[in-house]
Amino acid sequence: MDAGTRNRLRARLVSLRDELLTQGSMNIPPARTDVVSTPDDDEAPLTHMTQAIASNRNRERADRLEQIRDALALVDEDPEQFGLCEVCEEPIKPRRLELMPWVVLCVACQEKHEHEHRSPGSRKHLGDFQ
Ligand SMILES: [Zn+2]
Repeated sequence: MDAGTRNRLRARLVSLRDELLTQGSMNIPPARTDVVSTPDDDEAPLTHMTQAIASNRNRERADRLEQIRDALALVDEDPEQFGLCEVCEEPIKPRRLELMPWVVLCVACQEKHEHEHRSPGSRKHLGDFQ
């Protein structure tokens, strides 16, 4: 990967990270106070559901944030390794990196990994980017 591409992907990682961090400070109330302070019984199930969704999103966001931080650390500490598959060390396709600059596996290794660690419904969509 040339330095220009790497710099561009790095900048994208930084802005994605900042975006996630900004979202983290908005709109999602602390889970516990929300449950305790809901006086209306009719609203409780909805609140509960909203919270489940929010907490699921929080977890996904935390995971993504971690992947982005790892990728940024790799760019800075071991730039030659960035953009190479963690398993087979082949270059990851540029289009895949453009879409998901935090990925560490090529499509083939990703699919193999998912096949070996299959859990119903989860993360299958990652294999769609080829
Ligand atoms: Zn690979």
